[in-house]
Amino acid sequence: MLEKGLVQIYTGDGKGKTTAAFGAALRAAGQGNKVLVYQFLKPATLDIGERFALQLGAVRIRVETLDMPWDMSGSLEDEKAVTKIQAAISDALKRITQTAEKRFYDVLILDEIVFCLSEGLAKFEDVKDLIDKRDSAVEIILTGRGATPELIELADLVTEMKNIKHPFDKGQQARRGIEY
Ligand code: ATP
Ligand code: MG
Repeated sequence: MLEKGLVQIYTGDGKGKTTAAFGAALRAAGQGNKVLVYQFLKPATLDIGERFALQLGAVRIRVETLDMPWDMSGSLEDEKAVTKIQAAISDALKRITQTAEKRFYDVLILDEIVFCLSEGLAKFEDVKDLIDKRDSAVEIILTGRGATPELIELADLVTEMKNIKHPFDKGQQARRGIEY
């Protein structure tokens, strides 16, 4: 549906990256585009409001997860977990690249892939390959903290969510329906 797809990045330490990406998904789907949201680091067992909403089926946005065990507060230090997820992420990116070559979706959202890249869980070459090989009409949105200069170089649009204030700083727990 798009004439030309661009590459967007939502990064930074403030709230709003994933929710902005889902907003973009909603808008694109409402204008008749086929959308895939692929969630890295968010296993199927995680309680995720936006995923539940889309699984109700009223809006046609496909959500898939790299369904690997991952704990944000410990897995990065677990060598075995890291090695396992690196392989799974690389495979997932190759599969997503195939769908992008065929333009199976008009808009592809890779949630948390920027964080995966900044922590060495994903290979830059795999993401570059996806961007280079995709059908030229496919829009790609990458989210997550820590966008590197080489990734920014590849993108057409980069937004940084800057943390000014967040209730977590005062010890407030994540709220169901707002943070997840
Ligand atoms: P959201 O999903 O709300 O759009 P995000 O994608 O920008 O947030 P992530 O970096 O993916 O944020 O963070 C994961 C979780 O941490 C989310 O539940 C998010 O609301 C919350 N979060 C975001 N920014 C901050 C912050 N500065 N301090 C504490 N928690 C945050
Ligand atoms: Mg996020």
